[in-house]
Amino acid sequence: MNLVARARRIRVRVIGTVQGVGFRPYVYRLAGELSLGGFVLNDAHGVLIEVEGDAAAVDRFVARLPYEAPPLAVLEQVVVSDQAPSGAESFTIVASVAGSVPDAPVTPDSATCDDCLRELFDPADRRFRYPFINCTNCGPRFTIVRGVPYDRPLTTMAAFTMCPECRAEYEDPGDRRFHAQPNACPVCGPSLSLIGSPAPAAVSATDPVSDTDPVSAADPVSATVAALRAGAIVAIKGIGGYHLACLARDERAVAALRARKHREDKPFALMAPSGAAADSLVSLGSFARELLTGRARPIVLAPRRPDAPVAESVAPGAPELGVMLPYSPLHHLLLNDVGETLVMTSANVSDEPIAFVDEDALERLRGIADLFLVHDRPIQTRTDDSVVRARTILRRSRGYVPAALSLPGAGTPRPLLACGAELKNTFCLARGTRAWVSHHIGDLENYETLRSFTEGIEHFGRLFAVEPEVVAHDLHPEYLSTKYALDLDGVEFVAVQHHHAHLAACLAEHGEPGPALGAIFDGTGYGLDGTIWGGELLLGDVRSFRRVGSLLPVALPGGARAIKQPWRMACAWLVASGIEPPAAWRQIAELARSGLASPPTTSMGRLFDAIAALAGIRAEINYEGQAAVELEAACDPHEHGAYPIAMSGEPLVIDPRETISAVAADVAGGEPAGVIARRFHRTIARATVDACAALAAAHGTDVVVLSGGVFQSRLLLESALEALTAVGLRVLVPERLPVNDGGIAYGQAAVAAASLA
Ligand SMILES: [Zn+2]
Ligand SMILES: [Zn+2]
Repeated sequence: MNLVARARRIRVRVIGTVQGVGFRPYVYRLAGELSLGGFVLNDAHGVLIEVEGDAAAVDRFVARLPYEAPPLAVLEQVVVSDQAPSGAESFTIVASVAGSVPDAPVTPDSATCDDCLRELFDPADRRFRYPFINCTNCGPRFTIVRGVPYDRPLTTMAAFTMCPECRAEYEDPGDRRFHAQPNACPVCGPSLSLIGSPAPAAVSATDPVSDTDPVSAADPVSATVAALRAGAIVAIKGIGGYHLACLARDERAVAALRARKHREDKPFALMAPSGAAADSLVSLGSFARELLTGRARPIVLAPRRPDAPVAESVAPGAPELGVMLPYSPLHHLLLNDVGETLVMTSANVSDEPIAFVDEDALERLRGIADLFLVHDRPIQTRTDDSVVRARTILRRSRGYVPAALSLPGAGTPRPLLACGAELKNTFCLARGTRAWVSHHIGDLENYETLRSFTEGIEHFGRLFAVEPEVVAHDLHPEYLSTKYALDLDGVEFVAVQHHHAHLAACLAEHGEPGPALGAIFDGTGYGLDGTIWGGELLLGDVRSFRRVGSLLPVALPGGARAIKQPWRMACAWLVASGIEPPAAWRQIAELARSGLASPPTTSMGRLFDAIAALAGIRAEINYEGQAAVELEAACDPHEHGAYPIAMSGEPLVIDPRETISAVAADVAGGEPAGVIARRFHRTIARATVDACAALAAAHGTDVVVLSGGVFQSRLLLESALEALTAVGLRVLVPERLPVNDGGIAYGQAAVAAASLA
């Protein structure tokens, strides 16, 4: 009888985000613990493992492998096959196969981990208070990568040569900094400097300090903290760009910042020193709290507490505050030492993209910041903070990008590029079943954003080895993203209707084949008939769609100007409803009636604008979506009424003219704006539910998609979702991508892939 345990050898293929995340040393340790021989290596498909030894130990290896994986690893597929035992007793990490490009070479930037935090605040540690501490489980990734393979020479850490101690950690598979590419210490790594005047004298809107001599401060962090406490505005170089910081409760500093940034109303983001401090600012549900403390560290929008200790100018009149927690070691040092909440807003002048290149930042922010806290680790890719609200992601950028999404079915047979929309632009590259959606590029309206768009596409192409043969673009001929696409040579084009892209993005994200009924409500999208769509009821799947309903078309008086001036839409809707507008609006009323320079639109966003203007909430806007945001904020929660709204025909037309008449009557009767706002939201939610239920039944589907920027309204989204679910429909909403135009590129990619398949 054989007393030796039965030997077994297996091969394990692991696919997913498994490179550059400490996966090989993890496998090495696990195999060692279970006394298994074999090897692990990185190749173009991910990680390949062979283990051999006691059969029961091999089983335990397979069982534990996914569950104890390092935090940044994402295992998408683990395939196990049997091999002939070869008598291997030792386990080795085999060098990478040269020239291979993995599917997921770069992970998103990750917030400082607990182990690093302990060292950061441990006086005995050699990295005590070192602002660039990181390890295999945390630190900058996407924002420092210049090329592939993801290896130190191809990151912005290339200029820093590791000291012997750091090198030893980097090379030791048993060390938690094994192959941590940004590994550094005070001896060999990046360092901080404070530039500007050490004395944050008078904080005034007109007289910022413009001297850029280095401050002779022994400790730039302490000097910065002292300046902040004294009321200064400091530009702070972070992970994906510069922030502008000041004490959140200091009205004088915040008001000065607002004046210098020329940012009239848009709320400033906050960074709280702790979860408890965040709790004093906003009401957080358990899901929001998880997001707040998670690795991605987005800005979390949540209902503001009435007694939130922030200056009035932080978010004038806003019912929500945007709060995040420190995510870099520098943030931890600053917030720990300041001990209170800071304004941490993207460092830019109104409407420009966030500054991320040092010389450019110094130049552009000279008139805004009193001081600059900078460092010498370059930022390769400008990456804004991500923004989430409840389960909706409003801006998917730092901390999420460049994680891959799947394309449905067999994916795309040819590599493709999708160029996205004009506002809140992202682009998307895809190969096989994987799609990489870019960081938030922003509004393609100036040279800076256009340049980050074109450079971003080239960068992603190199990182993920995608040479597009097919290019998807919006139907709108004037979008800069469309023009960019059509200028490309030697590629095949797929034009994708804007609202179909919204529908397809949501279906593809959920792996739902459809057909589904989509209620796609947003501001503007080029329609198949060349008019401006935006209140659409579409029946379709990722391949094709049919417009089965829409909002009643109305004039957009003066075209684009009507977007900036909601009162023009109020005027247009009054005219359409047979109501004489106020005398002051007569000219625009004539314009709307004439149809001159007044293209018809079915935009739901513009209807929200019209109501905001009629209710006296907002006549002109300073940022996109402002009227709708304030209309929602105004809602009186105790109001339970709604307005009449008509619906008829095939395709179905949602006709709000009775709604407009009723709103006008309420305004004339002196009803408070909050009552009107709430009644209107309830009206649109009910119309959405009735229209979707009727059309879904008529076309034999039970799947409904809600998407488009209008659904950024939590009130509308939640009430429609709840009511549709209550009538037995399955409701899908975007979760991994924004409901707004940030999700368009992925939708275009899904449509193009389906049309090629
Ligand atoms: Zn760490
Ligand atoms: Zn070092």
